Amino acid sequence: MNRIFFRFFVLVMLSITAATFVIYLAISQLFGDPVEDIARRQAAAPIVLLQDYVDRAGPDEWLTRLNKARETSPVRYDLIDLDEARQAVPVGTLAELERGDVVIVPATRTLYRRVDLNGERYIGSEHDVLRATNLPIDLAVALQKEIVRFVIVALALLVPIALWSRSHWQGLQVLSRVADEFGAGQLDARAHMQPSASIYPLAERINHMADRIANLLQSQKNLLHSVSHELRTPIARLEFGLELLSAKAADPALEKRIKAMEGDVAELNDLVNELLGMARLDSAQSLQLAPFTLGPMLRDCVQALPPSPHTLGCALGDELGSVEADRRLLGRAISNLLRNAQKYAGQRIVLSAARTEAGRVEIAIEDDGPGIPAEDRARIFEPFYRLDRSRDRATGGFGLGLSIAQKAVVLHGGTLQIDESPTLGGARFIIALPPERVL
Ligand code: ADP
Repeated sequence: MNRIFFRFFVLVMLSITAATFVIYLAISQLFGDPVEDIARRQAAAPIVLLQDYVDRAGPDEWLTRLNKARETSPVRYDLIDLDEARQAVPVGTLAELERGDVVIVPATRTLYRRVDLNGERYIGSEHDVLRATNLPIDLAVALQKEIVRFVIVALALLVPIALWSRSHWQGLQVLSRVADEFGAGQLDARAHMQPSASIYPLAERINHMADRIANLLQSQKNLLHSVSHELRTPIARLEFGLELLSAKAADPALEKRIKAMEGDVAELNDLVNELLGMARLDSAQSLQLAPFTLGPMLRDCVQALPPSPHTLGCALGDELGSVEADRRLLGRAISNLLRNAQKYAGQRIVLSAARTEAGRVEIAIEDDGPGIPAEDRARIFEPFYRLDRSRDRATGGFGLGLSIAQKAVVLHGGTLQIDESPTLGGARFIIALPPERVL
């Protein structure tokens, strides 16, 4: 709201200022300078005095009357040389001065007028100019009036704009909340607004799009779930059949072969279980939130790791406190990252966690392995995406671990990011939990 309104505000102010200048220029061109008009009206008294009293004097009496006017008026009258006056008046008014018209310079509160054109008032008067200074000109009042006018026009425009942008803003708030919720996995989030709302058609389109995406995802999930589920029974049958076969096999070569097949079937079973677990993770309903202290939970994850030759360091801040999260799911995400670190680390793994100033909790898992190249970081969370096939084949895994970890973190409203460990040089995964999950 603030941004929209502020932009409108600046735009309106600029337009009104520009319009004021254009109006001023247009009026100056068509009807003469309005500032000079105001000054001329304010200086009317000394001008009338000059024209109706001093100028009406007969020959040789003009100077006497001028002196009398000098005595009675607060305005100061001087006679100056025509050349000096030519220098003093603005260039645009030189012709008026030459013609014998009154030339007013509002900025210096001064007027200039030639005494006469033919030297009739006294000898040499055609070379003299009467200069009246200290005229009763006060442009500040006129300026204040203009400012008041400006402010009233601006307010008259800004109030309807504020109301208009407010209604848009409320609609946009609804849309952005829907986008956030939808992005966080709440696929039934929709924008509800009155048909009279200005952005109702946009909301309708977004709802329609959300419907289609939700349907597509749902059918994809159903398919994955059904296929994985359907695979379980034949796999179980295969396992059973292989066990029977191996019990009866007398030939060691055949037994070896059966063992290898059992290994393959077990792998297939693991894959199906992973897939089923992942399908379940796709909805926010699967979250079971409860408060727990983070430190012990992270230590439990470390304890549960299979033995490995690596040194695993823990740097858990004292002020970690509690979070409200799904302990099992968050634990699964952290374990997946720790197990990956065990697979790819050279020697060292570090698990650290701390609260940030922004009220979030950040849990980092880093190692001294080969790391993840920057160009792969965006795709690494896709299911089945693996990096270097030859390297990965040795480490096992289906390429689902990171995908599951990310889904679990996103379900909590958090983020999972990768960069390079600044201290160990390998991969660093950072889980950030939002302030609303931190107690
Ligand atoms: P997998 O089960 O194959 O490990 P993941 O989804 O957990 O699947 O990981 C995907 C790929 O990301 C892995 O195959 C590996 O190439 C890469 N990877 C994951 N963690 C690390 C790590 N700590 N260091 C280097 N590469 C990693």
